[in-house]
Formats: sequence, structure tokens, C-alpha cells
Amino acid sequence: MSKIILTGDRPTGKLHVGHYVGSLKRRVELQNSGSFDDIYIMIADAQALTDNADNPKKVRDNIMEVALDYLSCGIDPEKSTLLIQSEVPELTELSFYYMNLVTVSRVQRNPTVKSEIQMRNFEASIPVGFFTYPISQAADITAFKATTVPVGEDQLPMLEQTKEIVRKFNSVYGDTLVEPEILLPDNKACLRLPGIDGKAKMSKSLGNCIYLSEETNEIKKKVMSMYTDPDHIKIEDPGKLEGNTVFTYLDAFSTKEHFEEFLPDYSCLDELKEHYTKGGLGDVKVKKFLNNVIQSELEPIRNRRAEYQKDITYVYDILKSGTEKAREVAANTLSEVKNSMKINYFDNREWLEEQIKKYS
Ligand code: ATP
Ligand code: MG
Repeated sequence: MSKIILTGDRPTGKLHVGHYVGSLKRRVELQNSGSFDDIYIMIADAQALTDNADNPKKVRDNIMEVALDYLSCGIDPEKSTLLIQSEVPELTELSFYYMNLVTVSRVQRNPTVKSEIQMRNFEASIPVGFFTYPISQAADITAFKATTVPVGEDQLPMLEQTKEIVRKFNSVYGDTLVEPEILLPDNKACLRLPGIDGKAKMSKSLGNCIYLSEETNEIKKKVMSMYTDPDHIKIEDPGKLEGNTVFTYLDAFSTKEHFEEFLPDYSCLDELKEHYTKGGLGDVKVKKFLNNVIQSELEPIRNRRAEYQKDITYVYDILKSGTEKAREVAANTLSEVKNSMKINYFDNREWLEEQIKKYS
């Protein structure tokens, strides 16, 4: 069986370091491993509209931002297919059929949807489109017959939902769809990177992000203002690691080489942590180190972005040709789906023959 990746992002803002450690970095590694037959990376504009219906301009403007972020992180259009979701209407049609296989109470139990509804103050007025986005995600994944979906932890319930739809579809209509596997980051700190304010998740919609394209000064300002241990007031005080965002970021980003280069007094993160918890290590010193680490990760990304920004038409052409290729694949799956459901009346003479027989 082919090994196929489908993953993507909502164009609700530029991509941030949470996307990078949660999914983007892994995608580039998987892309370059050469062990996948096809890789589809989708800019989920239709999904972004489910909670931004009144602001299509925001979505429209961020499509190019996300595409630039992809390319500057090392997504290679020769190896990965980039596509814009709304330009593949077959996805919407698939969602429509899948909706019949899911109950309202099942979607209501989805913990990510639950917390996102709360975060957006949607409790009393949830748009139906937003409520059903896990089903549309199942359409995106299955349309490309994805076997592997590299995403952050918040996507676990979506993958569960997709698997249930696949099983239900195959049992009702016959083997047609492929069951995907989620691929979560190995590093625990990358599963759900917190915001710089210490909130549970760095998220474009919460404005607590360090963006991949952020300028040097801005990164520094954000790192220096990051949430640490509020009880660690004097340098001599013992500090807490739990819930300390600076250390979570170091868990996510720092390597032995970073210590050699920027903080040679310590050989590794465990040593730094030990000193912090014992007391005698100030937040400023740790933050300065984290700043160096993040700057060294983001500088090459920012530089590559500047190059791509000089040729926006090139990026446009990548999106257009990728979307065209993706549309063919999705159309093929849709046709298989309709064939399995026996709602392909004009594909062949089967239905006509049945009707003739019935009325003869
Ligand atoms: P929005 O606030 O509009 O939902 P977002 O910041 O949550 O935006 P998405 O486009 O919803 O970003 O998510 C894209 C991908 O990035 C998903 O695979 C998701 O799991 C991953 N991701 C997003 N935020 C984080 C994070 N803070 N840590 C790890 N992975 C993340
Ligand atoms: Mg999200």
C-alpha cells in the first residue's frame, strides 16, 4: 500500500513556533526521508472560514503568508503538493456524505471542539460549519487516502473521528476508504507548545505567539516577557519548572550544540534545570539563552522567506499547480465513494438498466 501524508494549517495568521515544533519540522523531515509516495499539505481556508465567516479578507490575506512559511521552513514543492482547500470542491461533497455517518452527540463529545467553542465564546451560537469541521477534516484526510497525518496533540480527537467515519463507511458501503494514523511529535514539549503567556496552547487566535517570520528585536522582547515561575522573585530563590514556559520552550528547542555555543557553563538542559530548582539562577540568564536558541533556529527561516517574497508569482504558481493535482486525486476518491454508495447514476448504464427492468 502507498504511504501518503496529508496535513495542513488554517490561514488565520502567520505560522508560529508551535506549528514548527508540533508539525512543520516533522513534515520537512518526513518529506526529505523519501519514504512517502505522496505528501499533501493543505491550506485549510474553508475550515478557517467556519469561525471567521465575517472576515474572509483575513483568510484570503493569510493564504500567501502560510505558503511562504511552508517554503521558508523547507517544504519543497518538488516533493510535496501544496493545495488550497476551497479550490477542491470535491472535499465539500465528501463531507456532505460523511455527515450522515456521525451523530450530533458524537461531535459534541470532541474535547478539542469543546474547548475551541469555549475559547471563541460560541457557547450560545455555534456556527453549524464550525461544529462540523471534524467531519470536513475526515473528508480532507480520506480524499487523499492519507495513511499518515503528522499533527499536534489537539488533532488527536479529529483523527479518532476520521477513523470512525472510515470504519463506518467501509462497513456500510464496502471497502473504499483508508484508515489513517496520527503521527505526534516524539518530544513531549512539542505536543502542545504553550503560549508565551503560559496559556495552555500557543494559538494564532489567542495572540500569544512567536511567529516564524518575526524580526530579531520582536523575538527578544517576547522571550524576555515570557511567563516563568511567579514565585521565583530573587535569584537565590529555588525556581519551579512545572508550568514554567521558558523551560518548556528549552525542552522543545534546545540541543547540546546550543549549550556549547551559547551557554558553555552547562553541559545540558538537565544541569541548567537542576541549578534553577536549587536556587541561584536568575530568569534573565535563562531567557537570554532561550533567546539565542530561538534566534538561531528562526534566522535561516526568516532569510529564506525574504528570498521567496521577492517572487510571489512563483509561490502562486506552486499553489495553483499543486491544487490542480490535488483536485484530480480528490475527484477520483469522490467517484469511488459515489460508486460504493451506488449514487453514480450516469457513470455507466447500471441504474438505467435497473429502471428499465423495473418498468418493463
Ligand atoms: P487557530 O487558532 O486559528 O486554530 P492554530 O494556531 O491552532 O490556529 P492550526 O492551523 O489550527 O493552528 O493548527 C495547525 C497545525 O499545527 C495542527 O497540526 C496543530 O496540531 C499544530 N499546532 C497548532 N498549535 C500548536 C501548538 N501550540 N503546539 C503544537 N502544535 C500545534
Ligand atoms: Mg487550531
